Amino acid sequence: MKTFNVNIVTPDGLVLDTNTELVSAKAQSGELGIMAGHVPTVAPLQIGAVRLITGGKQTELIAVSGGFLEVRPDQVTILAQAAEKAESIDLARAEEAQRRAEQRLQDKKDDVDFKRAELALKRAINRVNVSRGNL
Ligand code: ATP
Repeated sequence: MKTFNVNIVTPDGLVLDTNTELVSAKAQSGELGIMAGHVPTVAPLQIGAVRLITGGKQTELIAVSGGFLEVRPDQVTILAQAAEKAESIDLARAEEAQRRAEQRLQDKKDDVDFKRAELALKRAINRVNVSRGNL
């Protein structure tokens, strides 16, 4: 299969810049699979995992906290507020963030806190799953 360049960019810098045959990401509209020659597109992403697959094998697994995926000819760019490769996730930190968010959701103060805690919980669970390869 033909390869193309994919890069993942956050406000902290470049998380990944490589070539792949397939990018799989969780768009707001559902799971999205991008191969070479895909029509140019911009899709908002959910908090979820991005996988790169080449030769039928998963070569990278990245936790992405929302953002956008842009398809241009021979190039996919993911712009996200935060993104971590599986191996650079601090699992203990993510588990602690998950515990804190669950506690805040139980405390249920107001809608703003609730929404924030829900998003923090999603980010934490996504990181835990990506770190453990549990997907
Ligand atoms: P925490 O409460 O642990 O800070 P958070 O979801 O609020 O988690 P973010 O605001 O999404 O954190 O991210 C802030 C920065 O910290 C980003 O650069 C992100 O990549 C990094 N980061 C957050 N959690 C982890 C983690 N478990 N392992 C590695 N990097 C992380």
